[in-house]
Amino acid sequence: MRLLIIFCCTLVLFCSPAIAAVEVALRGQEPVLIEDVYRQQGLSYVAIQDLLKVVGLTGHWDSVEHTYRIRTSRGWAVLTPASNYVRIGDTFYPLQDKPVFIDGRLRVSESFIQSQLAQLTGQPVFFRNLNPDASTVVEEEGGGLEQFFGRLFRRAERTRGPAIRAVAIDPGHGGLDPGVIAPDGYNEKLLTFEVADRLARTLRMRLGIPVYLSRSGDYDISLEQRLESASRDDVDLWILVHAQASFSDRVRGIDLFVREDEETYNPSSGSLMLAEQLSLSMQASELKVGGVYSSSRLSLGRGNLPTVQIEIGYLSNSEELRLLREEEYQNRLVQAIFDGIQNYITLSRETGR
Ligand SMILES: [Zn+2]
Repeated sequence: MRLLIIFCCTLVLFCSPAIAAVEVALRGQEPVLIEDVYRQQGLSYVAIQDLLKVVGLTGHWDSVEHTYRIRTSRGWAVLTPASNYVRIGDTFYPLQDKPVFIDGRLRVSESFIQSQLAQLTGQPVFFRNLNPDASTVVEEEGGGLEQFFGRLFRRAERTRGPAIRAVAIDPGHGGLDPGVIAPDGYNEKLLTFEVADRLARTLRMRLGIPVYLSRSGDYDISLEQRLESASRDDVDLWILVHAQASFSDRVRGIDLFVREDEETYNPSSGSLMLAEQLSLSMQASELKVGGVYSSSRLSLGRGNLPTVQIEIGYLSNSEELRLLREEEYQNRLVQAIFDGIQNYITLSRETGR
């Protein structure tokens, strides 16, 4: 065993000029430069210890269990070399790339930094690869410790990766734009942000994929900034969260909107399929759904990215306003949206759309 470790380290030391670097930060903080980065099969790998230091978490190697344990607010997160999951409590979350030992340190890939790190900290994480095209540094390391440990964990079930790579969520309004205002002064922007944030956390935790919010707080953003998160290469779904008001205080319920041309000209559009699945899962959760409508509203943008604007309720209806502000109701709503997205994923796998 000791010989194996020495062999791996020596191999890496001989073929690793330090030419890769990344920047990592919690959103809103000064990015930290990490230069102890290795490239393997086109991916950058960073030591988990270095990442935890940047985001203010601690962890340690458990030499009995052969796992790396990270202390989080949700309990221990456990990483196992060469396995495709991270375990938090009793739940296994899929990983896109296996953590590997390179140069004596357990390292995780870019995808871990972009999705799981935010999940562990409960905050958005900024990541930038300063050498995205750097040539591969370590090619021969694959047969080392991680493969050895991998045999110990074959019994762990590998979760199938999701059919969508990332989701963008746009919480409607913010800053000087409060959206619609309830009779008691409560603002749409406060509600949409809370619900969008809950939905983002749920998707990150349960699907293990990146979720990009167009804003991370109550402030103004330009249209360009709003579209930035939705136009990222890996985004396969875009959800816009809004609430409405009516002159009549009796109107209530959830309405779902898709782009006008998608319903008229393209009845098999992803947007419509997503909206229908959302509507079904909401009704299954006994939420009142008004219907799925097509709309020319500008907020939906143009294009064919599967997009649904969810009007989560009427602030002008006092009963619905009360419910919408309750944590329990928000959780039910978010769970229904999550179920709808999952059903959409299943359906798009089956239909190949
Ligand atoms: Zn709105």
